[in-house]
Amino acid sequence: MSIIVEDFHKIYDETVAVNGLSFEVPPGEILGLVGPNGAGKTTTMRALAGILEPSSGRLSIAGHDIKRDAVAAKSALAYVPDDPHLFENLTIWEHFQFIGSAYRLKDWSARAEALLVQFELVAKRDSPCSDLSRGMRQKVAICCGYLHEPKVIMLDEPLTGLDPRGIRTMQESIRRRAALGASVMVSSHLLSLVEDLCTSVLLMHRGRKLLQGSMTELQGGLSVDGRTESLEDLFFRLTETPDEPVPAGTSATEI
Ligand code: ATP
Repeated sequence: MSIIVEDFHKIYDETVAVNGLSFEVPPGEILGLVGPNGAGKTTTMRALAGILEPSSGRLSIAGHDIKRDAVAAKSALAYVPDDPHLFENLTIWEHFQFIGSAYRLKDWSARAEALLVQFELVAKRDSPCSDLSRGMRQKVAICCGYLHEPKVIMLDEPLTGLDPRGIRTMQESIRRRAALGASVMVSSHLLSLVEDLCTSVLLMHRGRKLLQGSMTELQGGLSVDGRTESLEDLFFRLTETPDEPVPAGTSATEI
């Protein structure tokens, strides 16, 4: 398994942000992490990226424990947060040079050129990042994440801020990386896009897992009054009873 989370807890002072979360993401899977504001999605991603210290639990990336083997875990990972920080005075190309040097990549420039074309950034190659639009900055962060060919890709709200062509490019790039064997985890509030893009879904609420299942299982197995529920219907149905979470590990067909 490329992403393993076992009994993860994160407590900030008084707030239990994540309360005993366990899940796995195998190579080739695109997991959609969904849940209301404050559910614990970003906390989970930040802990997996080694940015936040877990209160307890075991987390690993590509077989490397994020505490004991932090460097190996981070070198296998691309994490793009929802508000990516760029170096304002560096150009796009200089960002790629920085990544190439930080990850000690040898043959990165051809890949970088291809990413510029794919994400329609060629004309801005030598512009400082301070001069880029929000969507362009998002694309630069994604290109930087892809440059070292990570085995695990975690994207927090990757589609917000992108134009329709950017959304399509982003979706295609995620599908291609998963087809090549990467494990991908995407958090998003855009449920129809999650439904379209992801191969499985994990629904969180108040720091717990309410449901995890493959998209086929969700789309085929869930019906209310004879009609199949959309992910949006399911989201509203399960999160309107906040104090009675479905036990972790319940499969989609049991709901
Ligand atoms: P959103 O959809 O709004 O991005 P989320 O699912 O990503 O939400 P988190 O950001 O993980 O949610 O937050 C989970 C809980 O942890 C919330 O109750 C939040 O207020 C709390 N929290 C997050 N960061 C901190 C912090 N640094 N200190 C204290 N509490 C925090």
